Amino acid sequence: MNDGSDGSDGSDDDPARLRAARETVAEYASALSELTPGRTGNLSVREGDAFAVTPTGVAYDAFDAADVPVVGLDGEHLAGRMAPSSEVPMHTGIYEHARPGAIVHTHSPWATTLATLGLSLPPVHYMIVTVGREVPLADYAPYGTEELAANVVAAMAEVDSDAAILANHGLVVTGPDLETALENAHHVEDLCRLYVRSSAIGEPNLLTDEQLATVEERFESYGQQPDDV
Ligand code: 13P
Ligand code: ZN
Repeated sequence: MNDGSDGSDGSDDDPARLRAARETVAEYASALSELTPGRTGNLSVREGDAFAVTPTGVAYDAFDAADVPVVGLDGEHLAGRMAPSSEVPMHTGIYEHARPGAIVHTHSPWATTLATLGLSLPPVHYMIVTVGREVPLADYAPYGTEELAANVVAAMAEVDSDAAILANHGLVVTGPDLETALENAHHVEDLCRLYVRSSAIGEPNLLTDEQLATVEERFESYGQQPDDV
């Protein structure tokens, strides 16, 4: 293992880009506390066949980029002073399955409410398409295990979703980059809150596949386009 003190990162991937990934993890880690209580949850940024990930069991404002562990997709700790998140198997499993740019895992309260009820998040609102047509429920397994990683990957693959609710645990959301993954984790958390609240009053109407396909199509040209600015 390389402790990063010599300025290199010890991996085969581009050292400058891995360094940037570690800085991004250190910079954004405190954003986790808007979603998840205490020091629960974790996040990572992939660069090639390695990723920078939050250290295990450390408050999110209590480490810097040199502490941030870099882990290979084979699970090897390549660099960084601190030991990596206990959820490395889940991060490596998801990266190998779908190769997103970043992963956010939280115990955010509304997603975790569904997790305790053994419920997935159905399409109650069009914003679900930011992660897919539903957020599936991954079967329970203890935190940090290969079994949990396999359950999460299987659930995401089955319905082609960028997110999954982890039974009796929390939520995981992926994205092309960390900012998008964090933003989408907030969207999913908001939709879980909406679903729990509307379910308390009645049975929410769900969007159909056809309605969701229309939203997916409209999202392709949503927002500022290159010609607009
Ligand atoms: P780590 O501190 O090891 O990342 O664990 C937090 C967590 O949420 C485990 O599921
Ligand atoms: Zn967790």
